[in-house]
Amino acid sequence: MTDRIPLAGVVGCPIAHSRSPALHGHWLSRYGIAGHYVPLHVEEGDLAEVLRTLPRAGFVGCNVTIPHKVAALELSRTATDRARRIGAANTLVFGPDGVRADNTDGEGFLENLRRNAPGWRATDGPAAIFGAGGAARAVIVSLLDDGAPEIRLANRTRDRSEALAREFGARIAVHDWDRAGAMLDGAATAINTTSLGMTGKAPFDVPLDRLSPDAVVNDLVYTPLETGFLASARDLGCRTVDGVGMLLHQAVPGFARWFGTRPAVDRHLRAAVLAP
Ligand code: NAP
Repeated sequence: MTDRIPLAGVVGCPIAHSRSPALHGHWLSRYGIAGHYVPLHVEEGDLAEVLRTLPRAGFVGCNVTIPHKVAALELSRTATDRARRIGAANTLVFGPDGVRADNTDGEGFLENLRRNAPGWRATDGPAAIFGAGGAARAVIVSLLDDGAPEIRLANRTRDRSEALAREFGARIAVHDWDRAGAMLDGAATAINTTSLGMTGKAPFDVPLDRLSPDAVVNDLVYTPLETGFLASARDLGCRTVDGVGMLLHQAVPGFARWFGTRPAVDRHLRAAVLAP
């Protein structure tokens, strides 16, 4: 393998919109690494075959995105504890013993808050989470592991939030979506993990009047960068953190494993990823 140029990529469907090639491409060029990172359009029924073939074609690993994150974990020979608990994979490493799955979304989420809201800690107080989809699972696991004392959860489809509470235990408290604003009372952290507020989607319209100006507020949506949720929280005096930092930080462990260099997240990377 050593005389081969290492290849990595992102497997998804659709994939043309992905910013991951720009992200990893920036690092490859910055560190002068002879490698490539490419978008791979893979239909659902083809994932297993593609994951068998990629290592033989010189791939050292790949990222996985919608709709393959759950299936990629199931198809992997081994997995990290956090990937199992999140129930999905976003980073695969191809080794001599087969595919190893990891999920770095929660690490990216925490690192984004730590870097962009200095002094913030999960232990600061209750976290209020809007949404109970795949991204919420990564956020919940990382907050629990980092010592959050209480996680308040509201989702349009209540069954999904109740299932998460059953799975993740007593620190999760389920709230009604219709009165989701009430869970902001005394919350130290508020996070939107729904797709509301994304360009082309319905606006995020939960009332924020119960939000304390001491709270740190984060939106996972990053198109637009300043969502309505973040703009309203900023108007209330809160520190706000946009969602693109999570994307940047979740990419670090994969790049380090595939290409042997732990890369920096800085303003140059952010600019490369946000460039049209
Ligand atoms: P998902 O599994 O499909 O979950 C979508 C969530 O949004 C669910 O909780 C869903 O509620 C809620 N939702 C959708 N439409 C809604 C509406 N009209 N009203 C109320 N709730 C609504 O998606 P995901 O993978 O978790 O991703 C969620 C968002 O996070 C996306 O915008 C994604 O781009 C973003 N994200 C960002 C990063 C990052 O690095 N910044 C990483 C991952 C994801 P129901 O259960 O009721 O349908």
